[in-house]
Amino acid sequence: MRAMVLDQPRQKLRLAELEPPSPMPGQLVIRVHACAVCRTDLHVVDGELPDPKPRLVPGHEIVGTVAETGPGVDRFRIGERVGVPWLGWTCGVCDYCRSARENLCDQARFTGYQIDGGYAELTVADQRFCFAVDPR
Ligand SMILES: [Zn+2]
Ligand SMILES: [Zn+2]
Repeated sequence: MRAMVLDQPRQKLRLAELEPPSPMPGQLVIRVHACAVCRTDLHVVDGELPDPKPRLVPGHEIVGTVAETGPGVDRFRIGERVGVPWLGWTCGVCDYCRSARENLCDQARFTGYQIDGGYAELTVADQRFCFAVDPR
């Protein structure tokens, strides 16, 4: 699949051909229709947020359709339209996670920062953090 890759902060994004992602348990593979550019993406690319994933695909304001589902996925089906936000993963067991304040999880990971994001033909996301989007 084609993707725009940030090799290191403060470099230009590079068009790359990457292996299509496979879903882990609880994950969706999403065919990206659109991915906005948010100011936070610019902070990541400019090196103003510490330690982004190396060889990162930025982009965290994603809309697409589910192309594949991993084991245990029960919230979405193939062909459904979904949105993917900045918050991409939390531990699920800390006090914040267990009190519906998972955005404060100390181990939280973020889309297009610590997790490859949406500047690609396909992306992968944890179903727990995806939103249903009207098909039209
Ligand atoms: Zn944003
Ligand atoms: Zn947590």
